[in-house]
Amino acid sequence: MEKKKSISAQFKNLISLSVSAGKKAYAPYSNLHVGAALLTVKGRIFSGCNVENASFGLTCCAERNAIFQAVREEGPGMKIRAIAISADSKFPIPPCGACRQVIAEFVAKDKEGTVVIFKSEKGLIGPRIEELLPGFFEMKS
Ligand SMILES: [Zn+2]
Repeated sequence: MEKKKSISAQFKNLISLSVSAGKKAYAPYSNLHVGAALLTVKGRIFSGCNVENASFGLTCCAERNAIFQAVREEGPGMKIRAIAISADSKFPIPPCGACRQVIAEFVAKDKEGTVVIFKSEKGLIGPRIEELLPGFFEMKS
């Protein structure tokens, strides 16, 4: 269940950065330009856009593009405080299942958690990743 939560000014900045990132998208097949901007727990911001491919399965979503850049910069300890997703569509663009699992891999396991911001049928929402992907897969050692 997605609960509606207020969006802070910091998160509004992420939304605006995700819109900018989406303008760089390589989307000749779907013509759907998606952008994502994430804030790490350390306070750094990374963005990404979707990059499509003629072999559709090789397409990379904006969210994963941003997350992989964040890992490249902060290393394996990178944790996501918030990630905003936007697209040039009239319909809502929630993160796909694959991206939800990748976001969950880098969940902030503190009180603030990891928030995912996107336009839903009810407007802009910011649920925690656990609400979007309950019981997500984790490798326990
Ligand atoms: Zn995705």
